[in-house]
Amino acid sequence: MADFDLIIKDGMIIDGTRMPRYRADLGIKKGRIAKIGRLRSSDATRTLDATGQIVAPGFVDLHTHYDAQLFWDPHCTISSWHGVTSIVIGNCGFGFAPVYPEARERAMLTMTRVEAIPYASMKAGLPWDWTTFPEFLDSIDRRPKAVNILPYVPVSPLLTYVMGLEAAKTRPPTEREEREICRLLDEAMDAGACGWSAQRLDPNGPACVQRDYDGTPMVSDLMTDDTCYALARVLGRRNEGFMQMTLVSADPSKDPEHFEKLAELSGRPVLYNVVQPRDSMPFIHRGTIAWLDSCRSRGLRVYGQAVTSDTNMTFSFVDWNLFDDCQAWCDATTGTPAERKQKLGDPARREALRARVPRVITDEFDKIFITQVTREDLKHYEGLTLREAAAKDGKHPVDVMLDIAVADDLRAEFYAPGPNQNMDYMKEMLDYNWLIPGVSDGGAHTKFFTGGRYPTEFLTKLVRDHGMLPLEEAHWRLSTLPALCAGFRDRGTLREGAPADVVVYDYDNLTMGPMEIARDFPGGEWRRVQKADGYRYILVNGELTLENGKETGKTSGHLLRHGAAM
Ligand SMILES: [Zn+2]
Repeated sequence: MADFDLIIKDGMIIDGTRMPRYRADLGIKKGRIAKIGRLRSSDATRTLDATGQIVAPGFVDLHTHYDAQLFWDPHCTISSWHGVTSIVIGNCGFGFAPVYPEARERAMLTMTRVEAIPYASMKAGLPWDWTTFPEFLDSIDRRPKAVNILPYVPVSPLLTYVMGLEAAKTRPPTEREEREICRLLDEAMDAGACGWSAQRLDPNGPACVQRDYDGTPMVSDLMTDDTCYALARVLGRRNEGFMQMTLVSADPSKDPEHFEKLAELSGRPVLYNVVQPRDSMPFIHRGTIAWLDSCRSRGLRVYGQAVTSDTNMTFSFVDWNLFDDCQAWCDATTGTPAERKQKLGDPARREALRARVPRVITDEFDKIFITQVTREDLKHYEGLTLREAAAKDGKHPVDVMLDIAVADDLRAEFYAPGPNQNMDYMKEMLDYNWLIPGVSDGGAHTKFFTGGRYPTEFLTKLVRDHGMLPLEEAHWRLSTLPALCAGFRDRGTLREGAPADVVVYDYDNLTMGPMEIARDFPGGEWRRVQKADGYRYILVNGELTLENGKETGKTSGHLLRHGAAM
């Protein structure tokens, strides 16, 4: 019998520990890395030639929303196309378990807005063969998977399950309800959940940008500090798991204290969302980094998740939801397309829409581009910014945008450049060693955003083209750092004995493809995707899942209960 099932031959190993690269072969046996060194091809059943290629640990994406998509797309694309081999689902406190059968419809409607997952796809693609969280995990376990999955317990369904939606949005839990919430978290952790997550964007704060189906805040947005602390104590008592939180309260200056208290009460890692350089407000990322570093020096396990992708969005008003940080915009963009069209065209609403333009997605509203219209007599707007079109027409940019959208039956498409174009600020952010790159939001906002491309963008744009950090450091950040922050027990680096999650790629010729439309979602739905060129082989648990960008049909991913494959 051969010593190895597979040898990756003659590659440049970058093992994720920040050690200097070296030329070697990597031998795989029974899904694990059996040997790294000089190996003989004759000792393997199969050899993959990696001459001229980088061989590195598969990327770990801690911030995704593949909770629905994983049921119809075992590869969890687009993340897996970009070298991601492990993902964490259930971020921001959103998901589909625990959910009573009679609440399923509402749970799907919620997700159509807050994470913009198409309803028809959920309806056709979710098997709904669970009620409780442990049953949800069993369902994931039964599915074919081409990536590894770690599941958070999302607090919105958890609180809704115990209190009912109405109560969960209007009052804190009673003592009895809180005990039950904590008991269910315990039960989910027993079944292998990795921790819990919450988006807490106070409706009176500056950033309540992702809302429920009806435009109201999410259950997690309304959760009290005390409920958070009770949930943190559960992890502390268990000495297990970690937390993820997106927090902007009515008084954001108090937010750091809250994270510190969660870390103190639990002794567990807390992932802070998000660190993002904004061109108009560099003091924000600078302040956040200074605070995170003070946590580090005090031994508090608060880690920042950093947006390293250009957060540009392409959208039309048929389903656009990310102007919800302004109430007037939220009101005008909820409802059916026909209702939206009526509201966006309503002159009585325009004053309020002009008075406060959304800020979370874009720093400069009037720099949004009009990219594509369907009506012939509107074509002359294509390629103009709102500012340019406004100057031409002698109108306010908001009126230009909405008049075009309404005249084009909401089909007109717009492009909002990311508010993080300044590469000096990006460099400042990357100069802080301890930020986890990503926040892909993979599986969410699929008609607007392709953040799942972040590993490729990180390696090509920030590392190779801008030289912001050495490749050894980049791989540590893309794999090892997130794996350690998230309590993966044995993944994140290439070392003997570890599961063989490996990417083999051509560093010099690695490229990101253009944004494209793919009509591959169930229920006849479409999404925007971005592919990569240059990943030669991607292996998950020792099996080749992607070869030259093509899926091989192997589904060797595992549900990682308690941070490891069972
Ligand atoms: Zn999220």
